[in-house]
Amino acid sequence: MDKKDIRSYSKDELRAFFIEKGQEAFRGNQIYEWLWKKGAHTFDEMTNISLETRAFLDEYFTINHIAVDNMQRSSDGTVKNAVILFDGLIVESVLIPTDSRTTACVSSQVGCAMGCTFCATARIKKQRNLNPDEIYDQVVAINRESELYYGHKLSNIVFMGMGEPLLNYDNVMEAIDKITSDEGLGMSPRRITLSTVGIPKMIKRMADEQVKFNLAISLHSAIDEVRSSMMPINESSNLDELMESLQYWHEKTENRITFEYIVWKDINDSQKAINALVAYCKRVPAKVNLIEYNPIEGGEFQQAPTAITDKYITELERNHIIVNVRRSRGKDIDAACGQLANKTKIIEL
Ligand code: SF4
Repeated sequence: MDKKDIRSYSKDELRAFFIEKGQEAFRGNQIYEWLWKKGAHTFDEMTNISLETRAFLDEYFTINHIAVDNMQRSSDGTVKNAVILFDGLIVESVLIPTDSRTTACVSSQVGCAMGCTFCATARIKKQRNLNPDEIYDQVVAINRESELYYGHKLSNIVFMGMGEPLLNYDNVMEAIDKITSDEGLGMSPRRITLSTVGIPKMIKRMADEQVKFNLAISLHSAIDEVRSSMMPINESSNLDELMESLQYWHEKTENRITFEYIVWKDINDSQKAINALVAYCKRVPAKVNLIEYNPIEGGEFQQAPTAITDKYITELERNHIIVNVRRSRGKDIDAACGQLANKTKIIEL
């Protein structure tokens, strides 16, 4: 008999399974709690469950779990995990500590099909979506590391690791449900940010579903030709279409949008690029995160000089648009934004 992954079962499905096997439904609740709240990796850990029931579960199910295969710590305290999945594939996730918060940056897919030219992950073709439990487990692993190294729990989560989260919609939403549920990690959705290249149809779907987490868009240019030259998504969904979905998002959720923006030499370092960003930001309540760029091996992109970033800041602030500068973290271990590429281990492509 092929054993099924018990973590793909909802609580109701587990209750139904026990009823079908002639046992009490509440066993389903107990098992669910062991799996999600207590993070059991084996049935033997479930000490308030009888030995007989544990053996019975073992006949039908496995518990698929990620394992941290290789952990690296940066000189700035950033931790990068290479996470091995049940089928041997690998993704990366990162713990980023600052004075005020500890953030987990998690992956949603193995590789990525979006082809952004500045991103190391794009070089690994998409192999598969992560399951909800594989996303959840990355957060649990980083939460443990946060407690171990920094003495407190994780405070924030960003879906900004490998993959495009909106192309793995159902599994990402299910993982967020578990992360925010009292039966899971009980984190506030306000502390979660989903970062996307911007797929208008999916942004509207999230708005209709009244999600409570934050939305960030990898924008990088507010000029269509420039954005299309770096991000193929812009050819099928241009900036106007994206804006329409963002206005819809704001109307439904009343939440401000974050635009992530890297300033590159000879790409978006002109006054025209700055003016375009300011004009774009005025169309919807938004703030801008200017992110420091980390060159990738063999890549052609270079961070623009600080004077250009300063020009962006001045112009955005002059127009009353909130702007933050996000310094790069974990550069020495290739854990910084856009650098995740499974360099910790060679994977078969
Ligand atoms: S930036 Fe994000 S969406 Fe674009 S290729 Fe990299 S991982 Fe994929």
